[in-house]
Amino acid sequence: MAGIDSEQHRLHLQQLLGATRVSWEPAQLQAHQRDTWFLNVYRALQGRLVSRPLAVVFPETVEHVQEVVRYALSHRLPVVPYGGGSGVCGAIEPDANAIVIDMRRLARILEMNDRALYARVEAGKMGEAFEEELRAAGFTSGHFPQSMAVSTIGGWLSTRAAGQYSTRYGNIEDLVLGFDAVLPDGRLLRLPARARWASGPDLRQLFLGAEGTMGIITEVTLKIFPLPESALFQSFSFPNMATGLEAIREIMRAGWRPAVVRLYDAVESARNFPEASSGSDCLLLLISEGPGAFTAAETAAAAGVCAGLGGQSRGTAPVRRWLEERNRVPTFESLIEKGLVVDTIEVSATWDRVSTLYDQVVYALQGVSGVLVASGHSSHSYPQGTNIYFTFAARPPSPELGEQTYLDCWRAAMEATLRAGGSIVHHHGIGRIRKAWLAHELGEGVELLRALKLTLDPAGILNPGTLLPES
Ligand SMILES: Cc1cc2nc3c(=O)[nH]c(=O)nc-3n(C[C@H](O)[C@H](O)[C@H](O)COP(=O)(O)OP(=O)(O)OC[C@H]3O[C@@H](n4cnc5c(N)ncnc54)[C@H](O)[C@@H]3O)c2cc1C
Repeated sequence: MAGIDSEQHRLHLQQLLGATRVSWEPAQLQAHQRDTWFLNVYRALQGRLVSRPLAVVFPETVEHVQEVVRYALSHRLPVVPYGGGSGVCGAIEPDANAIVIDMRRLARILEMNDRALYARVEAGKMGEAFEEELRAAGFTSGHFPQSMAVSTIGGWLSTRAAGQYSTRYGNIEDLVLGFDAVLPDGRLLRLPARARWASGPDLRQLFLGAEGTMGIITEVTLKIFPLPESALFQSFSFPNMATGLEAIREIMRAGWRPAVVRLYDAVESARNFPEASSGSDCLLLLISEGPGAFTAAETAAAAGVCAGLGGQSRGTAPVRRWLEERNRVPTFESLIEKGLVVDTIEVSATWDRVSTLYDQVVYALQGVSGVLVASGHSSHSYPQGTNIYFTFAARPPSPELGEQTYLDCWRAAMEATLRAGGSIVHHHGIGRIRKAWLAHELGEGVELLRALKLTLDPAGILNPGTLLPES
């Protein structure tokens, strides 16, 4: 079948899946040409992102996914899984030969197991719909990424996502019990739910954060939790980030796990909570969830730590405001129209380094020509450390220089993070923007990852161009 052209591939795909499950409508091709990475939004608005995939397919069964992958392998066509397209690192950028697999018709909850507290769900299920169905049955997933209305469960696994309540419930890797994945040769790998695995290395980890390069996740078993009996809110202000971070460290060290732990620097406190901020202090928001006796004890203990470090109580209003506003963010398009180049960069570090890391990354970003503001907050904490989620906005001297300004900001933040001994990524993934720094983080691990990819996918059909740096 050598020499087969695009039109013939599309017709063959239609024969395999049925006409309603394959599209090459220009609007569909355009809708699947990128994720929500700032740089590709910017390029698209400037008319510089012109590549469109060969076709978009909409499988409704696992067998459909297998058929597409086998077809792609036999013709050496790239296959790009697409969840909600909310990824922000450029993991989705199909070329003109690529088949994009839109997973969103695989969206059924297959089982809610009350006794063992897990749910089996198809990987294209949108996060918000999943949570709503769980809540109606008295459960929660415990996983609330800000993007839950626009992201899928398969996407969460593939980027190692983190939700806003992660400090109590865990990140996605803590919540996944098992999953099925179609391998690059079309075989189905099944890793079912177990209370714990000890059968050699944990194969699940090979697919978590793999950005669709190792397999296509079709079904997932996630932990679920009974809806909490009680939720208590409180907030405190601190004179600087270092003291606020110290409060979080002490709370975590003592063994408490507030579901939400968010410390904003002075810039973000003033921007997000003007009524509670003096303009120079840093606001810490805490939500405790669980049995009533537990939340009462946790809230009192956390308040004691904060008071001991000079934290001033700001009551529950800032937490209520955050709950109302937490998933509202301006679109990149609206900021680009104002002539701005912006992004968020989330990194992490252990407690012995994180305060220095915060200072150094903000300083490095402020040093980039055109940067108007650089700020950060901590939003996912652990006994050993926390993340910092930086935001920058810059006004490049001209639209032609916008891309360079953007890349300069990323380079400044990544290099400062590495200098401070942090990890270059907390939860958004690698994509195309971070892969140049992967070797700094993994060392020999990059070649190990490359070898694993080559073994699993010798033809290199699954989502080429993301995650692994060019060799
Ligand atoms: C406004 C906004 C807020 C955000 N907030 C958060 C947040 O709070 N926490 C967080 O972690 N992230 C956040 N993100 C980033 C993004 O939502 C996450 O990375 C999310 O997990 C991506 O899911 P998705 O379904 O949209 O995946 P996509 O963007 O469609 O895909 C992401 C990667 O996974 C691959 N993929 C998708 N589905 C599958 C599958 N079934 N099998 C194999 N590979 C697959 C894709 O090929 C791609 O490489 C945010 C993004 C935006 C735009």
